[in-house]
Amino acid sequence: MIRIPATIQMGPYTYEVKLVETDIRSKEDRPLYGEADYQQQVIRVDARHPPDTIQAVFIHEYLHVIDIVLQLELSERQIGALAPFLLDLFRKITGGDGDAL
Ligand SMILES: [Zn+2]
Repeated sequence: MIRIPATIQMGPYTYEVKLVETDIRSKEDRPLYGEADYQQQVIRVDARHPPDTIQAVFIHEYLHVIDIVLQLELSERQIGALAPFLLDLFRKITGGDGDAL
């Protein structure tokens, strides 16, 4: 388990992290697990999913913000592939309790 903070500093930007229990939809009206709102500096994660999914989605959206801030031009596929492995790494290096996060 990693701790999901209420706010997180990403470079010069402070993002609010909201765990919501309402549908999150894309501009094309597709259901989403989460989203990163760059204008409002908010990450939203649908909290109605299992904890593993919520944590992976948080990291996924975090990676989207890094991608935008650093202009890395990562693909959705690359971010989708990286997020669960970073979650696994964070759990391993923190002993699973998330103290370092
Ligand atoms: Zn994504």
